Amino acid sequence: MRRRLIVGNWKMCGDFRTNQKRLEDLSSLWFGVHQTEVSVSPAYPYLAQAAGMLENTNISLCAQDVSTRENGAFTGEVSAAMLADMGCRYVMVGHSERRHYHNEGYDLIAEKFQAVCEAKMIPILCLGETTADREADRTFDVIGRQLLKVVNACGLEGLAKGVVAYEPIWAIGTGRAATPEQAQDVHSYIREILGPEGEQIRILYGGSVKPDTAEGLFAKKDIDGALVGGASLDARDFVAICRAA
Ligand code: 13P
Repeated sequence: MRRRLIVGNWKMCGDFRTNQKRLEDLSSLWFGVHQTEVSVSPAYPYLAQAAGMLENTNISLCAQDVSTRENGAFTGEVSAAMLADMGCRYVMVGHSERRHYHNEGYDLIAEKFQAVCEAKMIPILCLGETTADREADRTFDVIGRQLLKVVNACGLEGLAKGVVAYEPIWAIGTGRAATPEQAQDVHSYIREILGPEGEQIRILYGGSVKPDTAEGLFAKKDIDGALVGGASLDARDFVAICRAA
């Protein structure tokens, strides 16, 4: 049985006061014992704030990115050891916004994946195709390539230490989520690649997940949760999505 996971990716949003209110609301709304696992991902400067406020709650901490370097003269970088030290449980790698705005390539992403595992945290490997890829019928090619780069670098047993998130770029921040069928098609393709050895790997969907689209997505057999952007900034909407899982 794969435990459902919902991650709120706050991206570069928030400030000390807004975060405080959101974290208070979240921890009171998501109180008690739940089957579904929940994690939130504030920007780097607020990890300490969130770690403090989430102590003794059932909500964990996720970082949005990581450096491949261990320590030393790498101005602006944040190492995996530092994120572990802050109490992060998860770290996203290869989010399409990192691939696109920061030219992160396959090798770098595979290295980040490994750095997170070595620091005993759980990487969330993000994959996704552009509108052009989808229109040209290249979705499976692109997703397969992105996934296999990490499988080749870390082995299937290495990948099994992480979580996979399918986030079609055309669905991110557009209000146009993939239909449950579109998402399921790609998730089942990913499952096929992972094979029986990867049976326990969770595959999340991300891209305009809202309280009203969540239930349909989670009804699909290979969708094990979600990576939520915009809707995670509203504690009520986010918790509604968590409940739908
Ligand atoms: P939205 O939910 O805002 O579309 O963002 C999805 C995303 O990129 C999560 O990582």
